[in-house]
Amino acid sequence: MAEPFDPTSHPHRRVNPLTGEHVIVAPHRSKRPWLGQTEPIPTAMLLEYDPACYLCPGNTRAGGLLNDKYENTMVFENDFAAVLPPPGPTAPPAPHPLLTTEPVSGGCDVICFHPRHDLTLPRLPLPDIERIIDTWCTVYKKRGSQEGIEHVQIFENKGAMMGCSNPHPHGQAWSTSKVPHIPATELESLRKYASSTPPSDAPRGPLGRSCLLCDYVHFEVTLAGNEGRVVVQNDHFVAVVPWWAIWPFEILLLPYKRHIPSILHLTPEEKTSFARILSQVTIRYDNLFSCSFAYSMGIHQRPIPATSDTIPEDEDEENIAHLHLHFSPPLLRSATVRKFLAGFELMSEPQRDLTPEDAAQRLRSLSDVHYLAQ
Ligand SMILES: [Zn+2]
Ligand SMILES: [Zn+2]
Ligand SMILES: [Zn+2]
Repeated sequence: MAEPFDPTSHPHRRVNPLTGEHVIVAPHRSKRPWLGQTEPIPTAMLLEYDPACYLCPGNTRAGGLLNDKYENTMVFENDFAAVLPPPGPTAPPAPHPLLTTEPVSGGCDVICFHPRHDLTLPRLPLPDIERIIDTWCTVYKKRGSQEGIEHVQIFENKGAMMGCSNPHPHGQAWSTSKVPHIPATELESLRKYASSTPPSDAPRGPLGRSCLLCDYVHFEVTLAGNEGRVVVQNDHFVAVVPWWAIWPFEILLLPYKRHIPSILHLTPEEKTSFARILSQVTIRYDNLFSCSFAYSMGIHQRPIPATSDTIPEDEDEENIAHLHLHFSPPLLRSATVRKFLAGFELMSEPQRDLTPEDAAQRLRSLSDVHYLAQ
C-alpha cells in the first residue's frame, strides 16, 4: 500500500495565486548530504562616510552633480535612467506581427535612506525608517500624479550578490507609462478573485468584494497558527514565508487587519507598525547568517494614487490593490552559498528543497536584536 501523502517529506507542487506560477517543493532533498563548499563569512566593515561613494552627502555623483549635505533621506533623478520623460519618439511600424514595439516613458529616482554610508535598514532606528516610508509616499504621490505615468514601482536592491554595486543604503522608484508585467498580472488575479469568490470572514476590498490577499493573510494569521508560515506579526502588519515561495527565505509582508490599497492609505499607527516590521524582518535576515543579507524588495500597491476625489474610497475599483511587499533573497545555506535558478528551474519551473514552513520556523526563532548590536 502506498504511504499516505506527507507534505513535509513528499515532493509536491504549489501554485502562486497572484501570478499563476507553480513551484515544485522537494523536502526530501534537504536531507541529502551537502557537498558544496562553505566559505568564511565576510567581515569587512563599512566606513560611516566614504569619500569615494557617489551617494554620501556632499560627494560628486557619476553624472557630475553634487549631492546635498542631506541629513535624513535624499531623492534624485537617476543619472542613467532606464526610461526617459515623455513624449519620446513614436514607435516605428513593426517589421513583422511577431516583432512589435510600444513606446514606454517615465522617470527613475534614487532614494538614499540615510546619510550614513554604513547604516542599512536593519541598523536604522524606527524614526529613520518612518522617514523612509514618508519619502516613498512623497515619490509615489509626485510621480503618480505626473501626466502619462500609470505605475510607480518602489524597490530596493541590496547587496553585491543582487548586482547592487554601492553598499550605501538606498532604494529606487521607477515610474512608467505602462503597468509592468508582474504587478499587472497580480492586479488581474485580484480582480478575477474579487468577481468570482464569495466574501468570507476576512476583511474585504472595495465594494465589499473578496480580496485574494485579505483572504490569504486572514488564513495565515488566524487559522494556520504558529506552526505555519508566519515569521513575525505586530498590531497591523505580518510577514510570512508564502505558501508558494520560490526563494529559500522569501517573505511576503502585508497589512492583515484591513484592506489597505497603498502606502498613502496608512494611518499614523499603521505607518509605525510598518516601520517596525521592516526593521524586524531585515534584522532577522541579517541575523540568519550573521551578514548583511542581500535581497530584492518591491512594494506592490495601487499603481498610482487616485487622481480624482469624486469616487468614494470604498467604491473606487482601483483600490482592489492590497499593499504588500515581496522580499526575494538569494542566500540558501550561509553568507556566501546562494540559490541559482538554473537548469530545470529555468527551463521548466522553480523548485525548492527547504519548505516554506521550515524557512518560517528558522526566521521566527531568530532574535529581534541585530547581531552587530548583541
Ligand atoms: Zn555612501
Ligand atoms: Zn485586501
Ligand atoms: Zn505582489
